Formats: sequence, C-alpha cells, structure tokens
Amino acid sequence: MSAQSRSLHKPRRTQLSSVNEDGSRYIIHPSDTHGPFTNWRRIVAVLLIAVYALLPWIQVGGYPAVYLDTDAMRFHFLGLTFLSHDIWLGFFLITGLGFGLFYATALFGRLWCGWACPQTVFLEHVYRRIERWIEGDAPKRRQLDNAPWGGPKLVKRGLKHLLFFLISIAIAHLFMAYFVSIPKLWDMMGQSPSQNWGVFIFVFVYSGLLYFNYAWFREQLCIVICPYGRLQSALIDEHSVVIGYDEKRGEPRGKATQTGIGDCIDCDRCVQVCPTGIDIRQGLQMECVGCANCIDACDTIMEKVGRPKGLIRYGSMQNLEGKRTRWIRPRTIAYTALMLVGVLVLSLSINNLSSASITVWRLGGPPYYIDDAYIRNQYMFRLTNRKNEPSYFQLDAGEVDPDIIVNGIDDPMLIDGNGDVVKALVVLAPKDDFNGPIHLDLNVRDEAGNILATRPLEVIGPNLPTASSDEP
Ligand code: SF4
Ligand code: SF4
Repeated sequence: MSAQSRSLHKPRRTQLSSVNEDGSRYIIHPSDTHGPFTNWRRIVAVLLIAVYALLPWIQVGGYPAVYLDTDAMRFHFLGLTFLSHDIWLGFFLITGLGFGLFYATALFGRLWCGWACPQTVFLEHVYRRIERWIEGDAPKRRQLDNAPWGGPKLVKRGLKHLLFFLISIAIAHLFMAYFVSIPKLWDMMGQSPSQNWGVFIFVFVYSGLLYFNYAWFREQLCIVICPYGRLQSALIDEHSVVIGYDEKRGEPRGKATQTGIGDCIDCDRCVQVCPTGIDIRQGLQMECVGCANCIDACDTIMEKVGRPKGLIRYGSMQNLEGKRTRWIRPRTIAYTALMLVGVLVLSLSINNLSSASITVWRLGGPPYYIDDAYIRNQYMFRLTNRKNEPSYFQLDAGEVDPDIIVNGIDDPMLIDGNGDVVKALVVLAPKDDFNGPIHLDLNVRDEAGNILATRPLEVIGPNLPTASSDEP
C-alpha cells in the first residue's frame, strides 16, 4: 500500500489530543499498562520519591543532607557547606547540569521527562494511582465523568480530592523542609500562621498549585508550559534514541486476521495508554513525554497475536528506518565537552574550598589617617569557620616590614562550627619614607599553622615628599 493510502487509513491528528473540537478541555484517562518498562519506571519512581522524602531527615555532619538555610544564607550539601559568597559555584553547577541535560537529550531524547521529572513521577505514580484506586480503571473513570452528580460520585470525587489535597500539602511541607529543616518546620506547624507569615503563605500557595496541577492541569503543564518539550526538537537529531513506531514493519496496518499487511493491528492500545493522548504512529511529537507506556502496551498486543515485540520501541529515527545509529556526533561531542568543563571546574572549585574564609573591607570615612609618626589604615574583617565543629584560627600578615604594625590579629580565635567573627584590623605604617601603596597578605592559619586562606591588603597613604625630593 502506498504512503498516500496509508495516510488515508487514519486521518492525521490536526488538533491537540487534550482539546475537544469545540476548544474545551478533553480529560485524558490513560489505560493501565503492564510490562517491564512500567515496572522499572515504578521502581525508579519509588526510589526518587523516597530520596525526596528522606533527604531532609538524614543528617550529615550535623546538618540535613540537603539544606538551603535561608536564615544563615548557607547551603549544606552532603556534609559540604557553601556560603553566600560561594554563589559563583552555582554558575558551573547550572551549566554542568544544563549541558548534562542537553547531552542526555541528544543521546536518549526525553528520558528525563518519562523517568525522573517530578511532574511525571508524582502524577503517574502517586496521584493517578490514588485515582485508579478510588475510581477504577480508565473506562470506569470515564463513566464516572459522564455520570450525573449523586451520592456515589460525590463520595468518590470527594475522597479523591481530599487525598490529592493532603498529598499536595505533604509535598509542599517536605519542600519547605529543605529550606528551614524538619525540626524548625515542625515548630512552625505548631505555631500560629501570624508568627511565620512568609512560610505559611508560601506553603499554602505551593500546596494549592500542586493540587491544581496534579488534580486537573496534568499533561497541560508538559504540553503548554514546560519549555523542555519545545527545546527537544532543537536538541535531538535522527540519531537520538527516542520512542518510535517502526512504520516499515507496522504499515499498512489492518486487522490481525488480514493477510499481506503490516504488523500493526490498529488496536489503538498505544493511544489509549498514552498520558498525553497522542498516537505515536504519527511520528515523534512534542507532546510525547517518553513514558514508554506505548511500548509495553504494544508489546503485550504483539505477544497476543504472536508477532515479534518492538513494533514500538526505543530507537533512533535511523534505527527505525533500518539504518545505523551514530552515537558520536558533533553535537554529542560539543555537549560532552561543555558538560565536562562545568563538572570539572565545579569539582576543582569544591576541592579547593578551604575550611575557613575571610573577607576584609575598609572602614567608612577617610581611607587613611595621619598620626604623629604613622599612617593609619583601618579595616574590618569577617573570619568564617566553614567546618561544622568549633575550631581555632590564627591570623598573620605574612612577611611584613618590621616597622609596620598590624593590630587586631594577635590572639588565636575560637570560632563555632559554621560561625564567624567580625573584628577591627588596624595597620600602622611609618609616616617617614612612606612610598605606598604597601601590599600585605593576610593569612588565616589553622592550629597546626597551615595556611587556609589568604586575603591581600593594600595600605595606602599620601606619599609625602621625602627630604631628597625637596632638594632643588
Ligand atoms: S498498540 Fe501496536 S498494534 Fe496496536 S495500534 Fe498501537 S502500534 Fe498498532
Ligand atoms: S507516545 Fe508513548 S512514550 Fe510518548 S507519551 Fe505517549 S505513551 Fe508515552
């Protein structure tokens, strides 16, 4: 059968699968699937949800494993502590992650969307599971949609939405725990909202958004709002592994009893299980979130009709056309290189993070003062202990001219874990023969005398004329 007759067999979709012809929303009720990809996705989802729920409870080095302490402006990550002035590391983190996602997309299409995106994980493995448990399988859910409002429908819908709302509140509270820690969140929950208006409003609004999204908006977030689906067409090429339909093998489609046709028996099972309601046989579409439901559904059908599995499968467009997939391509090389640069710089920077940091700033007012014998420069410094336990630190000004006096750094300082001290620092340079600026190095040493951080200091003065320069 020709390509033209194939396209006549079933008209191509010309509107969004989740929109009725009159423009109203069509609520998609995907059918249940069974198969290896469904099982693996379920395992991955359980693990991801467990990680999300448990991380704020797990203590590493005295702090939650992942804790963005907004009060103290610190980020604790698996025992490492990042201060607000380490924010520049975020650039390399974000570029590394961004190019990592580009790289994964160029190689494996929307693997992230189908397997690990929180939208898919919570929607498919929490909210839809509850919906199925209360309202039944897809045909029953559709029946309930069309049933008149009455006792049974009110009870089922009421229970479902109550559970949806409670779970949304739980997810929002867990999210908040990443910013305030579990004990503090627990305290806040026992207090009046007026004592924590900011947190209360955030959790309230976020819970509402989660509920709206998972109870009603659902696949629209992926189709209408998420930019990643649209980026996909720019990130993948014919060698990227996506979920696709083997048109060569499947077409011309027809009844299982017909002879001389392709392997697709046109049962529409792949469409019924699709959470975005699309027909993968129409080619790769922006709405495809790579969930692999259609693979399991079609493989089950193929098994039943005694045909080989894999009519819908993971494969590149090249592979689906019977050609070879190339893994190493200019775009994968470029994304790998950019991702590695981000990861490398981030790793080296984290590795070089010292257990102490110091910032120095000049006191307000005149930049220097002239006393009887000295030019005086005044500073403040903030010395931060980046370790999680109390530690001693000592400051020195390095190899300094013995005539220069540095006050404020004589005594060792005991600083609490993740604490800091702010002190004054005064440098006195002899007025005579001052030929500034003078450059000093302010060193932070640990108890054993190892240098942990160094901060340059510039001592400035008026550069008074010397006796020799006064001579004619
Ligand atoms: S599930 Fe397989 S056989 Fe059935 S319509 Fe889809 S591609 Fe064809
Ligand atoms: S087309 Fe297949 S992989 Fe894509 S969203 Fe639908 S069911 Fe999932």
